[in-house]
Amino acid sequence: MLDLFSIFSKGGIVLWCFQSTSEIFSPSVNALIRSVILQERSGNNTFNHNALTLQYKLDNEFELVFVVAYQRILQLSYVDKFLNDVHLEFRDKYKNELQTGPCIVDFNFKTTFDKVLKECEIWAKSQAKIPKQMRTFEDSQKSKKTVASMIERKGDEKGKKTVKIVESKNLTNGKAEEVTNNTYDDDVIAANRAKLAQKLASKTKKEPKKSPKSPQKADRVKQPRVWELGGDTRDVAVLDYSTDQPGEAATLLPDTQLIGQMTGAIRDLEVESEESSSEEEEVTSQPTSKKTGGMFSLLKGLVGAKALSEETMRPVLDKLRDHLIGKNVAADIANKLCDSVAIKLEGKVLGTFDSVAKTVKATLTESLVRILSPKRRVDILRDCLHAKQEGRPYVMAFCGVNGVGKSTNLAKICFWLIENDLSVLIAACDTFRAGAVEQLRTHTRHLNALHPPARHHARHMVTLYEKGYGKDAAGIAMEAIRYASDTKTDVVLIDTAGRMQDNEPLMRALAKLIAVNEPDTVLFVGEALVGNEAVDQLVKFNQALADYSSSSSPHVIDGIVLTKFDTIDDKVGAAISMTYITGQPIVFVGTGQTYTDLKALNANAVVHALMK
Ligand code: GDP
Repeated sequence: MLDLFSIFSKGGIVLWCFQSTSEIFSPSVNALIRSVILQERSGNNTFNHNALTLQYKLDNEFELVFVVAYQRILQLSYVDKFLNDVHLEFRDKYKNELQTGPCIVDFNFKTTFDKVLKECEIWAKSQAKIPKQMRTFEDSQKSKKTVASMIERKGDEKGKKTVKIVESKNLTNGKAEEVTNNTYDDDVIAANRAKLAQKLASKTKKEPKKSPKSPQKADRVKQPRVWELGGDTRDVAVLDYSTDQPGEAATLLPDTQLIGQMTGAIRDLEVESEESSSEEEEVTSQPTSKKTGGMFSLLKGLVGAKALSEETMRPVLDKLRDHLIGKNVAADIANKLCDSVAIKLEGKVLGTFDSVAKTVKATLTESLVRILSPKRRVDILRDCLHAKQEGRPYVMAFCGVNGVGKSTNLAKICFWLIENDLSVLIAACDTFRAGAVEQLRTHTRHLNALHPPARHHARHMVTLYEKGYGKDAAGIAMEAIRYASDTKTDVVLIDTAGRMQDNEPLMRALAKLIAVNEPDTVLFVGEALVGNEAVDQLVKFNQALADYSSSSSPHVIDGIVLTKFDTIDDKVGAAISMTYITGQPIVFVGTGQTYTDLKALNANAVVHALMK
């Protein structure tokens, strides 16, 4: 039983519409257009909004959208067939009118619509009577797994997860390797990090170091650190601009070079790519001899049809998907992106061979840029100043799993804020991890050494609000915000404890902290290094904030801090995966271990690196 069927042009003109109830459907259809069709999420043709399920089909030749809406509790098996059939009938019936321009035509479509619907309903009933065939082995997910992926390692939770869906990808160097839908193996990450360390080390030898502040960059494997507790103080040494201890005068001096570098809006990210430009690749005649053939050489020879159909595009789309996965886009999202491109291009009539390759690339590029471009204005400095005018502190909360760089990037953001003359209170709400408070204390000292009170009308620009360990984080955050209000501090940065996305009690505690304190912005901190895993984290954090909040309109993640971007070369796929999943912007990108290594995402630069 369909509630709504509508045919409208991509320009927004409704050509024909049928409604079986008096309900107002425009909010749901608008949500579909806004969240799916305009945002390049059309890979899956189903969209849920409130109690409704909406299914749609695009006609790319006449730029039309066919939409069906029905109650979500219903399971209508004929809707795909109905959309296909009704689409064909409509095209056939009004081909001439559609070619000349649809808006002035009176589409008398009810009889055909009823006929097609009736046929589909009868077809669905007849299908229901046929006993279900058992799936063959080839059809099952199991057939797609490799033997290695099915060996579970005892006590290895991650190992268990990787068994779910394993897809084989052609890495750009031609080796076959496995990418899982959920996570990289720890071993793979460790191996990648080691590779990267080697690469960075060789780079350091070749060229003089740009930043004098990152001597341990080559060592990418996270080491257990002890903050001010004796033992390994590598990181402290890197960022230590002041110390209370006498006899260390050399390390007391703040690095004055950093001061003033972060005033104003954050600079855009520049993404380097080691490969030659795509234009060069387009003309190269021996792509296979190169280290990587590039997107164009992958597509060459695969397409040649004039009218693009799902079948003719399939080999190209498979290559595209592998290319994206090779760049660290989560496998599931790479699939959806390619399906979305297919839906967008299906039925398009193209000219020569070359224009097909160009169209495929251009369509994907366009989709990727759109995904990465923020849908709403993100201007933290302006929001902070606005809050200041209202006489209240602007509050940002940082969440994410352990070790992704929450505290470090919080400190970088803090540096940027004080460079812009905003005073900051850091709320030490990680009351779990030993050393977390000391780490923030150290940062606070460094930051105040860089921007001493003497430069800011005798005011300490950064204050740490700490209550030690084991206390209720939500309570500490609340006290900190009150303290910031009383002391007229401009911004509060809340550092929360790192937690695994599957740890329910800790996720509940985070939801409580957010619900109780209502920060202006909740930022999810994720590493650019781990593709699929970061997506899993993000989805679960977002879900937990929604599920465990007692509010009817829970505050979920507003933006993303993508860290360790300096360690991934051109494997920039995590940026796409994270924005695709949440629809939220990447507000900050961490590009190193000094306070100035903070950038804004440049969608074009990232997509350029992704498409090479
Ligand atoms: P937390 O547990 O999430 O608070 O993580 P930390 O802030 O302690 O950071 C973990 C490690 O990642 C530290 O060694 C940081 O120096 C490093 N780190 C953080 N951000 C970046 C970044 O953008 N680039 C690089 N290369 N390392 C980073």
